Amino acid sequence: MSEVSWREVAPGVHVRRHEELKLNCGLVVGEQRALVVDTRSFHRQGSDLLRAVREITDLELVVVNTHAHFDHCFGNAAFRDSQIYAHSGAADDLLRTGEHQRRQVVEHLRSTDREEIARDVEATEIVLPFYLVEEDTAIDLGGREVELLYAGRGHTDHDLAVAVPDAGVVFAGDLVEEGADPAMEDAFPMEWAATLHALLERPAGVLSETWVPGHGRVVDRSFVQEQAALLGRLAETFTEVLAGRPTGVDALASAARGLGLEDHTLRQAAVRALELRSGPTS
Ligand SMILES: [Zn+2]
Repeated sequence: MSEVSWREVAPGVHVRRHEELKLNCGLVVGEQRALVVDTRSFHRQGSDLLRAVREITDLELVVVNTHAHFDHCFGNAAFRDSQIYAHSGAADDLLRTGEHQRRQVVEHLRSTDREEIARDVEATEIVLPFYLVEEDTAIDLGGREVELLYAGRGHTDHDLAVAVPDAGVVFAGDLVEEGADPAMEDAFPMEWAATLHALLERPAGVLSETWVPGHGRVVDRSFVQEQAALLGRLAETFTEVLAGRPTGVDALASAARGLGLEDHTLRQAAVRALELRSGPTS
């Protein structure tokens, strides 16, 4: 953990990539306040992040959770004195699924012999974001504005991206993934591409060449365009198959083989596409 360090990708815009899950957290420093993007997986990791933030700035902190998956928000416990922003859907989701997420993570940690971390996760209080937004929102950090962008459903139904227009940087959360497939468990595979296109076409998106994915290496605008195109091909393939006779997960997933996504990803995407089609859901 101690070997992790910040990388300044633009003046006053820092990325901290962690070994665990290749998770990226962000720090944007203004003249009066600084903004932290995502808080890691449990209280102690959040505290470690906070210490690292304090090596760079003493300013008052504002926090944004890009979405309600544990690795982006369970570290909120260390930032409870700060304003914590998220989409209102993230607060709902965390309230509804937080304990379930915790059980799954703890089980996974125990099955991979990481008892100490499992206890850390068990002991972490889940702190909900409480500055809730549902549309694009500007936050003034003093001398610099940051934009929270909601472009539609994708990785979840409540992904927020954080744009720093003066620096040409977008923190995309898990709407963009580098080094692994886009994660589909809670995704909207038929809408994700359109959401990414909408994000790329926002004024701040058009101007940004530096995109920070939720996990993996920092990428450029063309990487995001390619990921949007890939997700667009996936949605098109699914649409074609679903327009024909009734179909199941296997048939749907196998129709999309060859696009360059792993079988596991295709199956999860197929499960979600069928789930979302079969009933009125959020
Ligand atoms: Zn996620």
